[in-house]
Amino acid sequence: MTKNVRVRFAPSPTGPLHIGGVRTALFNYLFAKKHNGTFILRIEDTDQNRYVEGAEHYIIDALNWCGMPPDESPVNGGAFGPYRQSERKDLYKQYADALIASGNAYYAFDTAEELDFHRKDHEAKGKTFIYNWHNRLKLKNSLALSKEEVEAKLEAGEDYVIRFKSPQDETLHLKDIIRGDIKIDTNILDDKVLFKSDGMPTYHLANIVDDHLMEITHVIRGEEWLPSLALHYQLYQAFGWEASEFAHLPLILKPTGKGKLSKRDGDKLGFPVFPLEWKDPKTGEVSRGYKEDGYFPEAMVNFLAFLGWNPGTEQEIFSLEELVADFDLGRVNKSGARFDPDKTKWFNHHYMQEQNNDVLAEAFKQSQPELSEIDVDYISLVIGLIKERATFVSDFWELSHFFFTAPTSYDEKAAKKAFKDGTADILKTVKNIILHIDDFTVIALQKDIKGWITENDIGFGKVMMPLRLALVGALQGPDVFDIMFMIGKNETVKRIENAIKSL
Ligand code: GLU
Repeated sequence: MTKNVRVRFAPSPTGPLHIGGVRTALFNYLFAKKHNGTFILRIEDTDQNRYVEGAEHYIIDALNWCGMPPDESPVNGGAFGPYRQSERKDLYKQYADALIASGNAYYAFDTAEELDFHRKDHEAKGKTFIYNWHNRLKLKNSLALSKEEVEAKLEAGEDYVIRFKSPQDETLHLKDIIRGDIKIDTNILDDKVLFKSDGMPTYHLANIVDDHLMEITHVIRGEEWLPSLALHYQLYQAFGWEASEFAHLPLILKPTGKGKLSKRDGDKLGFPVFPLEWKDPKTGEVSRGYKEDGYFPEAMVNFLAFLGWNPGTEQEIFSLEELVADFDLGRVNKSGARFDPDKTKWFNHHYMQEQNNDVLAEAFKQSQPELSEIDVDYISLVIGLIKERATFVSDFWELSHFFFTAPTSYDEKAAKKAFKDGTADILKTVKNIILHIDDFTVIALQKDIKGWITENDIGFGKVMMPLRLALVGALQGPDVFDIMFMIGKNETVKRIENAIKSL
């Protein structure tokens, strides 16, 4: 690649960013970093009707949380700004005018009611109304009206739009890095609106003008934009600009069945579809986010990378840096990527093991009122013993409460299994052994208790099961000797005495 790679993530701030959008941002980021290029965030906010308060902020927070901050953005600027289209508003009209001057676009004065009438009229005849070559001369536009009529309308301040004049009987040859060559017959294209008399460009015009001015080399975006590619190609041609290269990413499919992943799927099956929690500013409705659900950003990045891409090897665990090194648009699939909520948990479980226990201890302490007085170093040691079984910080309490509080009851089924005739005597002896250990370590505990069991040929289960139940309240948890060591001699003895009493 000779040119300096410049890619952009160009969301519209119409609400929280769906994980599909985060995946698009990620693939842009990876591609940019892989080629020592620039990753740009451009906010496409020309449609003021759909603007949602807080959405831009949310997008930036989400990118930062994932560890992929843009190099150029509305917040940190850059040489190609401004990076919000609403702040570039005055720039677009001249480009629409240039297309009119070159005969590639025209004014159209048809009112919404008139267009609606045509649509319904066509429908009634079993046809579809398309505003293009086959009927545009019968409609109210500057191709059909006289120059004087057009000028009079413009002067009178009549509402208009500027439409692209899509050619007749041509075949377009489009290229997509992921999909290969695509041929399009221009006769099926409609004359898309580029500009409106409220002074605002539509997505198509603003997007192409900005991609050109910002010197974007590669457009990497979701498959839903593939139908716009023909128009975008033609716009580049009409302006006489070199088009960027395109890569349309596959859809993310729902966990089962047909169609793309939606918020409804998440609500139904109990997983988030947004990176961060989002509170709708109008309704107050809160949507859960991966971050607040306890996912690590590394896990999210890793599972998103595999939605449509794979390295071609068995390796599944990739840090962001490793992804940068291995990412290749040529290995992105055409077909939809099925979303698997269980797999997201699998990744999180993996990254849980790699987290620093002290950091986890802080998070655990914050989330659990029972821990407010407990030393974080102790919590950190406990986490080291239980995290192998945890996927989220929110699993910790269930896995470790007995390190912090004595059992108040014993699991009934377990008690039936573990507390038998003779168990009280066994526990009394164990208690005495423990009382005699001065150097209260795991090794000493193992040596003395296991030694006594073997010497007297008692059977491990007969001792360890009731002992575990006494300490934990259930037949679960890590190694019994680790538990005793952690809670200490006094607490261990107390719990054994309590169990004997309740037998
Ligand atoms: N503003 C468009 C969106 O919301 C950008 C599409 C593109 O990348 O061209 O996704």
